[in-house]
Amino acid sequence: MLLKDKVAIVTGGTRGIGYAIVKEFLREGAIVVLCGSRPETADKAVKALKAENDDWSVSGISPDLTDYASVKAAFDGVEKQFGRIDVLVNNAGMSAKEPFNTYTEAMFDSVMDLNLKAVYNCCRAVTDGMQARRSGCILNTSSMVSIYGQPSGIAYPTSKFAVNGFTLSLARELGPYGIRVNAVAPGVTNTDMMKAVPKQYIEPLVNSIPLRRIGEPEEVANAFVFLASDKASYITGVVLSVDGLARN
Ligand code: NAD
Repeated sequence: MLLKDKVAIVTGGTRGIGYAIVKEFLREGAIVVLCGSRPETADKAVKALKAENDDWSVSGISPDLTDYASVKAAFDGVEKQFGRIDVLVNNAGMSAKEPFNTYTEAMFDSVMDLNLKAVYNCCRAVTDGMQARRSGCILNTSSMVSIYGQPSGIAYPTSKFAVNGFTLSLARELGPYGIRVNAVAPGVTNTDMMKAVPKQYIEPLVNSIPLRRIGEPEEVANAFVFLASDKASYITGVVLSVDGLARN
């Protein structure tokens, strides 16, 4: 098992890519605390995972990721319970697809608050402990749009470009403490969000991807497993694309 007994927190772990990350981490022996936006969604995800395998060590918390005090209190509770946090996965994310001339300040703030500020909040809440232990792993969820941008929904690609810069800079700053910081940039991935997109939009997209299909959440999760594992012990500061060579 690649992650035996590693204590991991996964934000946005209740569905989609985050849920797949939680499940693959559990299969690899990790002790996982998933974050949901509400206690009910976190509980539901934990119950579904326990129903699949009662031996899995999984629990749920639901701090307000955009509020440092809320995150710190919840993550300190995890550290107290398990003695350490080995891996933090910042996966929770949202987008608003509006064109620029109707994109409101409130939309901009809510996307940046979750996609960027929450990444800062969560990292800040775990790094004191990781620095003291001189070990730790932080993984951020970027996106293929962090490479080429996207033609609508300005805050989303902006936030993901920032996540890449944050990743690279924090990797440089915390490397001397034995803390690795990497990101995964998924392409179009088969989550609930994508299932809602009509077929006529998906087909041209798929034809532009050299592997001729969209990705599955498990395929993205596998990259997180690798980067969280000791197999990636000399890898830090990378943004790993998992996108079938999809470039928009
Ligand atoms: P999703 O909408 O299925 O899941 C998003 C997760 O974030 C959920 O668990 C949700 O509970 C959580 N979340 C949303 N708002 C929250 C809030 N305010 N507070 C706390 N948690 C909140 O999305 P997904 O497709 O699984 O995306 C997961 C990550 O992958 C995101 O960062 C997204 O930007 C990124 N991504 C997705 C795709 C894709 O095609 N699906 C492509 C590239 C990057």
